[in-house]
Amino acid sequence: MQKDTIAIHAGYDKKEGWGTMSVPIAQTTAYAFRDAEHAANLFGLKELGSIYTRLTNPTTDILEQRYAQLEGGAAAICVASGQSAIFYAIANVAEAGDNIIISDKLYGGAITLLTHTIKRFGIKAKVFKSADASNLEELIDDNTKAIFFESLSNPQIAIADIEAIVAIAKRNGVLTVCDNTVATAALFNPIAWGVDVVVHSTSKYTNGQGTAIGGIIVERDGMAEFFKENSKRYYHFVEPDESYHGLVYTEVPLPNFCLRIRLNLLRDIGASQSPLNSWLLLQGLETLTLRVEKHSNSSLEVAKYLESNPKVKSVNYPGLESNASYAKAQKYFKDGKASGLISFDVEDYDTAKAIIDKAKLFSVVVNIGDSKSLIVHPASTTHSQLSEEELIKAGVNPSTIRLSIGLEDPKDLIEDLEQALS
Ligand SMILES: *Cc1c(COP(=O)(O)O)cnc(C)c1O
Repeated sequence: MQKDTIAIHAGYDKKEGWGTMSVPIAQTTAYAFRDAEHAANLFGLKELGSIYTRLTNPTTDILEQRYAQLEGGAAAICVASGQSAIFYAIANVAEAGDNIIISDKLYGGAITLLTHTIKRFGIKAKVFKSADASNLEELIDDNTKAIFFESLSNPQIAIADIEAIVAIAKRNGVLTVCDNTVATAALFNPIAWGVDVVVHSTSKYTNGQGTAIGGIIVERDGMAEFFKENSKRYYHFVEPDESYHGLVYTEVPLPNFCLRIRLNLLRDIGASQSPLNSWLLLQGLETLTLRVEKHSNSSLEVAKYLESNPKVKSVNYPGLESNASYAKAQKYFKDGKASGLISFDVEDYDTAKAIIDKAKLFSVVVNIGDSKSLIVHPASTTHSQLSEEELIKAGVNPSTIRLSIGLEDPKDLIEDLEQALS
């Protein structure tokens, strides 16, 4: 099936259950077992089915199946937020004494999580240059458990050298985890390029209206073979799990990466997604491809306008031929489209702040991927704790403005920017 069809139909048989056209919301904590043996079979994985909503839920299950197909993966698991998706993907393979290698261009929350918070769990992060992966291989050692990067990074709006990263990871038997939130499954499928695990903050383009927080993790087919081939590095998957009566994951005929997250991390830490949020995300997903196309087309128009405005010093949008990521957008993303994030620089810090205040259609918000257009001045808000030097390192100048282009008519957005810049 093609993506437009998957996003609307996959994972739900309307003739089963209540026969509702809309996916039903299973707003329940627990499930009645047929009898004691049924319950025992479910806990023993002899039969698959719902036990408790912290672990599985029928509405969430449909979203998981739909997303797995949309990303070309074998399975997916929903969690409470994009942040918990990143944490679970890493905690599924790394523990005290291990290290991970992370991109130098990441979402702020990912930076604090992966450099500060997981350090307290004894996991160290090393940083590689994702634009060309030139220093990646030298950072890998026996305790390296994952390479983490964003396909299209937020807020730097740069595209990683995905092919080079995957080639190095495969040569060394190290797991790759790609955050595909900004590029979206509509424009790019990391698994098709050899990535092992994809994570998303579904709070952004998947939802599309800023009405729910969610996260999802998708794994490619064949992870059991990968863990067996690299069993020294990923021994958790080939040795008996004491906490699950000696279960050996690679012997279970279910996609291994998500299975271990469900049976260990969701069971014990429990950042599970609410069924209502799964339902809201299913509504958003139905129009994902359509929306991302419009976000991308409008963004290109706005970016071209900004480039033509003499008050604008520089424009960062991978759909522009002048952009450092332009060739990568053409190579990796559907029709070279580049999603809805633009940043641009004006004269100085004060000019940037004044433009934010003058914009009328754009809301001053730190979210992205909403149907409503959003504007933010990173230096005085999201990145205000950073020194000037750190700002430059994070790719944020004091005069940088970031836009998330919504679904309004781009003529109105350009008119609003025109008056704000004048
Ligand atoms: C927003 C975002 C996250 C965090 O997701 P939440 O759902 O807000 O927890 C992670 N990665 C990227 C690229 C994001 O934009």
